[in-house]
Amino acid sequence: MKGCDAIAIERNKITAVGKFEELKPLIHSNTKIIDANGKIVMPGFNDTHIHIWKVGNLKTFMLDVRGAESLDEMLSMLEAYNKQYPDVSWITARGFNEAAWKDGKLPTKDDLDKVIKDKPVYVIRTCAHIAVANSKALEVSGITSKTVVPEGGEMQTNGNGQPNGIFAETALGLITKNIPAYTKEELKQMVKAARGEMYSYGITAATDPAVDPLLLEAYYEMYAANELGFRLNAIPILLPDGGEKPFPIPEKFTADFFTVNAVKFFSDGGLSGKTSALKRHYKNSDEKGILRLKHAQYFDLCKSAMEKGLGAATHAIGDAAIEFVIDIYKELNKNFPSLMKRIEHLGLPEEKHLREMAENNIATSMQTIFISELGKNFIKYLDEDYLNHCYPVKSVLQHGILTALSSDAPVVKNFNPLKGIEAAVTRKTNEREIIAAQESISVEEALKLYTYNSSVISDTPKFGSIEKGKLADFILLDKNPLTTSPDELTSIKVEKTFVDGECVWESN
Ligand SMILES: [Zn+2]
Repeated sequence: MKGCDAIAIERNKITAVGKFEELKPLIHSNTKIIDANGKIVMPGFNDTHIHIWKVGNLKTFMLDVRGAESLDEMLSMLEAYNKQYPDVSWITARGFNEAAWKDGKLPTKDDLDKVIKDKPVYVIRTCAHIAVANSKALEVSGITSKTVVPEGGEMQTNGNGQPNGIFAETALGLITKNIPAYTKEELKQMVKAARGEMYSYGITAATDPAVDPLLLEAYYEMYAANELGFRLNAIPILLPDGGEKPFPIPEKFTADFFTVNAVKFFSDGGLSGKTSALKRHYKNSDEKGILRLKHAQYFDLCKSAMEKGLGAATHAIGDAAIEFVIDIYKELNKNFPSLMKRIEHLGLPEEKHLREMAENNIATSMQTIFISELGKNFIKYLDEDYLNHCYPVKSVLQHGILTALSSDAPVVKNFNPLKGIEAAVTRKTNEREIIAAQESISVEEALKLYTYNSSVISDTPKFGSIEKGKLADFILLDKNPLTTSPDELTSIKVEKTFVDGECVWESN
């Protein structure tokens, strides 16, 4: 980034980097020179954990209730949506965060019934690990007090032992298997809907960390038809919610625009809804979260995937979940030291865990951006000791662990990488409280974790930095992040986004 104000590109590759005047002699018919004209040039951002289609779904087929500041507001959003789209057979919505509401309670089926009774309604909490269904949805799903809850899941009941509409973790499958599945074409529409917002933040590469077989087909088709428009790394899931049999292990695939090189598991839930598996209790509660995986099944599936040359990425946030995953990864590392072993999130690792991760080639994709949007939940649910080492990026880096940053959107609404970088540096919640200040890293480090390190953890070495020979994915910024106050990083505007040497987005 330093001293570079022009890039020479031949076809889709960077052939030289330097001052515009110096590069001028290189111009010939196949070379174009991009003159930054005083703007800041940097590699495109690579969000290593973003549910792309779900981001797009909230712009297309699913109601976005992330802005609801109270239960009543959410209910009126549902009511209005039902009126606007009378032909939708199932109403699905996502994004409430009851921690920000007055009584802080999860909504139940009775709340949803107040606005929609004749049609099934399914509302996913912001974390996607908890959801609420109305009475009609329970009825069409055949849910009663006698329903057998799958292992690693939870179905809440009211005082009379009747289901109250709240489900968590693998039990979400009890409802979701009855919701008409999206078609491949709808999935493609969602991906395209998400892409514009990604470009506007300068995101040129992304990893979808939970891909089911139909979505994988959609991605392959988009790749083959040259329709992706950004570098996509897909991580297929093997275990669907609800305890059905595992999906087949996918084939490894490597191309410039599309890679499949790891498989995904979920070992626990989220901190913001108290489903991450902790060793100690959540604050003022007897809950310790939910551990979702069965040891033997998880190990066997990882091993089979690794025998096919695939790495593994496992969601683990609570200290109990992290320990469980590290134990399996340690075992796998003996036979597969060079394959990627990722822990997604890594919210509450202990010092011991970090040592073991470094010793056993375990990498991580973390979300400092949670601190800004979900920090209020962390403060509410975590005791002081947990809060003090929540998303401890600096400690993780000090142990020499390969680390990338990411957003996990749509878990957060604002997935601008500069917002994640701001949170990595300031450790501030959106309410201006500071969480684990000692874990702050520099802007320069954070930028690297969103670009170069992202390509290392995704095993996509052809892009991620501005160097001769790399694929020409880069962005132009109106201000230098290294000289901007960390609190003002999100005021920086992405002026142009380039993928494969082409300008795909321009601010106006
Ligand atoms: Zn996620």
